[in-house]
Amino acid sequence: MIAHPLILGAGPAGCAAAITLRARGVDCTLIDRDATVGDPLCGGFLSWRTAEQLDTLGIDIARLGAHKVSTLRLFAGQDMREVALPHRAYGLSRHALDSEMRRIALAQGARFIADTIKGLGEGYAMGAQEEYHSRSIFLATGKHDLRGHSRPRTAKDTTVGIRLRLPASPARDRLLGGAIELHLFPGGYVGIVLQEGGSANICLAVRKSALACAGGSPVALFAKLAQDNRALADRLGEGWEEARVDTIGAVPYGWICRETSPGLYRLGDQAAVIPSLAGEGNSIAIASGVAAASAFRTGRSAQEYQRAFATRARRPVRLAAALWHMAETPLGARAGLALARIAPALVTTFAEGARIPPAPSLAQT
Ligand SMILES: Cc1cc2nc3c(=O)[nH]c(=O)nc-3n(C[C@H](O)[C@H](O)[C@H](O)COP(=O)(O)OP(=O)(O)OC[C@H]3O[C@@H](n4cnc5c(N)ncnc54)[C@H](O)[C@@H]3O)c2cc1C
Repeated sequence: MIAHPLILGAGPAGCAAAITLRARGVDCTLIDRDATVGDPLCGGFLSWRTAEQLDTLGIDIARLGAHKVSTLRLFAGQDMREVALPHRAYGLSRHALDSEMRRIALAQGARFIADTIKGLGEGYAMGAQEEYHSRSIFLATGKHDLRGHSRPRTAKDTTVGIRLRLPASPARDRLLGGAIELHLFPGGYVGIVLQEGGSANICLAVRKSALACAGGSPVALFAKLAQDNRALADRLGEGWEEARVDTIGAVPYGWICRETSPGLYRLGDQAAVIPSLAGEGNSIAIASGVAAASAFRTGRSAQEYQRAFATRARRPVRLAAALWHMAETPLGARAGLALARIAPALVTTFAEGARIPPAPSLAQT
């Protein structure tokens, strides 16, 4: 049995924990099923809070070529409103972000093992290759649940995440510029942002029932949405049907973990799942990684950490859930755009409120 933390998952949450532990001289082992970093499904939007946290961890997103984002453009039906974001945000692929976070964690001395974790118990994790033992396990497998540790899915009509990556094009560059766009439609939204190198990340979150109306096919759904929404059709451009489509099912939006087992620190999407239209999931992941590492180092139990982090995540997750429920109904979407026209400052306040609050101090979660 080793005393140092075993971190399961080397996404933003796991790597943030590893970097924080190593910065304080604590040994740790990162285990990820992928020996090399892929490009996980994500909207590619990094909020100003994410950028601040990455900066604190020594990650220079400007050097990674992150695309600068300064405005929020909302579309519903034929209507469009544009609001300035309260602070500078960014578009960056998860391939670029995760590669850099993993590189820094390993450069600082974190050990890395490529293995797929199949199960978990008190003080151990079962990998496909071997069994690992530690008194402190950081569960950071993100969107993927381990058997016996699934996050509850209470929604009758679950949410599916879909992503298209389109190459750089002068036309999309002109249309999107420095904006994050949210195209609202009944049952979901399409988020579009440019990333490093000018490629576009087109990410959609949709209720399963709305996807079923398009025959269950993501491409058919995009085609249907583009038919009803000229602006979306322009952004998709020609030949988008050939692009690779990634999907993830049953995202438990709004779930927050309050109770955990002894020695099990739950991080990132395994700690709290903020509806993705807020663009704050990566920020919550990083904040939880830093908080869990700080709790471990200062001798606080996994349960103390989990409760404190649940309290910290509550406001942004609840606010984002309320905005998501509003945005997915035609009436709510129209009301949102009307609000953006009459009181843009209120939209800015919501955008600020959906951010994870900074940690009260380095030693606190
Ligand atoms: C549709 C959609 C759009 C989104 N858009 C945005 C956005 O624009 N901005 C934003 O900030 N957030 C967004 N999010 C949320 C964001 O993607 C997540 O909150 C974030 O990825 C959580 O990070 P994580 O480190 O907890 O998990 P992940 O990023 O999921 O990383 C988990 C890691 O664990 C590894 N792993 C998984 N299972 C195992 C296993 N069994 N054994 C070993 N390793 C394993 C994986 O390989 C991966 O490296 C979006 C989410 C969705 C669903």
